[in-house]
Amino acid sequence: MSETLAYRLCPQCFRAVPLASKEWYCANDGVRLLEHCPKCRSGITSPYARYCVACGEALSEQTPKTKLKQPAFRKDEHV
Ligand SMILES: [Zn+2]
Ligand SMILES: [Zn+2]
Repeated sequence: MSETLAYRLCPQCFRAVPLASKEWYCANDGVRLLEHCPKCRSGITSPYARYCVACGEALSEQTPKTKLKQPAFRKDEHV
């Protein structure tokens, strides 16, 4: 076997699927799965990867670093 096993990874919930699968979008949240590191384009070789092993980039695409000060809706009001 000469091919390296590779995965697609959900940038939100970090669910991984084999590259050979036909899944392109996360079954959990519908976001496009990452096929490679957004920074250096290295393939994702571990289903448990959260950071790129080549450059250390976080494998989450659109994670805003600003924290929400107010939640969109409160859970405690209806319970
Ligand atoms: Zn997901
Ligand atoms: Zn990288």
